[in-house]
Amino acid sequence: MPQIDGERLLGDLAALRGIGASGPGVVRPAFGARDMEARHWLADRFEAAGLEASIDGVGNVVGRSRNSGPALLIGSHSDTQPTGGWLDGALGVIYGLEVARALAEDAGSRDLAVDAVSWQDEESRFLGCLGSRSFCGLLTAEIEQGISDGDGVALADAIAEAGLEGVARLGLEEGRYLGFLEAHIEQGPQLEDDGKLIGIVDTIVGLRGIDMTFEGQQNHAGTTMMAGRKDAATALFEFAHRVNEEFPKAMAERTVWTMGRAVLEPGAVSIVPGRAELSLQFRDVSTAVLDGFEEIVDGLVADINAKGKATATARRSRTPIAPTEMDPGLRAHLMRAAETHAAGKWVEMPSGAFHDAGIVSGVLPSAMLFIPSIGGISHDFAEDSHGTDIVLGCQVLADAAASMLASARP
Ligand SMILES: [Zn+2]
Repeated sequence: MPQIDGERLLGDLAALRGIGASGPGVVRPAFGARDMEARHWLADRFEAAGLEASIDGVGNVVGRSRNSGPALLIGSHSDTQPTGGWLDGALGVIYGLEVARALAEDAGSRDLAVDAVSWQDEESRFLGCLGSRSFCGLLTAEIEQGISDGDGVALADAIAEAGLEGVARLGLEEGRYLGFLEAHIEQGPQLEDDGKLIGIVDTIVGLRGIDMTFEGQQNHAGTTMMAGRKDAATALFEFAHRVNEEFPKAMAERTVWTMGRAVLEPGAVSIVPGRAELSLQFRDVSTAVLDGFEEIVDGLVADINAKGKATATARRSRTPIAPTEMDPGLRAHLMRAAETHAAGKWVEMPSGAFHDAGIVSGVLPSAMLFIPSIGGISHDFAEDSHGTDIVLGCQVLADAAASMLASARP
């Protein structure tokens, strides 16, 4: 079986951490100078590992094996949140590189093909999972045209600034891939709390968002009697309170919901608010639970509107993300490898966060492996994992990749 080199793995992770380092964290948003520097560094590392490296027109870095397929595509993303942790994405990218090296160094697996990848903009500076969407043929010119970041920078300008204007974009090569593997830090506390070392993702949770609007009548806070008010904020507060009363009755084990944004207009102490907005988001592994929540929202809207005060309107805020099951065949290989290296210390679990594997699974069999996050902290400079856990996870991935590819040998 191939042996990964733990020191080499940790050394490359440390080197990548140094590009855009900010204290213990990393600042490397997609297409920025540091992000592109990291992508060129990765391309060099892929070449040094014997892979054929290229950076495509949206910034995806792919290191292609010179062996013929069937191949595995292994990786994650190297862009970060505006204030990101050092392992979110980076871990899975360097795992792809190390697995490719380990298989190439072992006589029993050196004919197998592993392509390493770092997708672009998983963290949504412009569009979440932009790079994997492009690779999967989901980024149409129409979608792309309207995209800009929070500061109003157009995607096309960022692409040009990064030197990628007119550069060819990679797409799925028909027949080459057996599947896609993505390793990632858990970004939650479950593995650590349960004393487990490896998580094998069964489902990536689905997500739906609803934008609520409440329209009332703006008026004087002293002269407008309570009975006559059409207070948009009161409607919003009632709606939010009832969400927190009704959703628990329909929730499942992994259901979460968040009301992360509220706006009252005009937002003055002595004015009865005439308009209010509330963003509601909910996630679960089950479509039925998500459907149930939408029905509850419809009922609450009807209740509020029946009172004849402020008018409530619910609008889906984004394209819903369906819960995505990971490929059972690939998962079986991961489970066997996990049992070999961490007997009794691995678990099947859902992913509460979205990942590129959720996009790629639409076109390729895909699977994900998690390692523990210390304290469950992520999207923060304090994000960290134990070195021994990082090394173990990569060995499990390497064994699983070798057995997947060996069993598919022509
Ligand atoms: Zn990530």
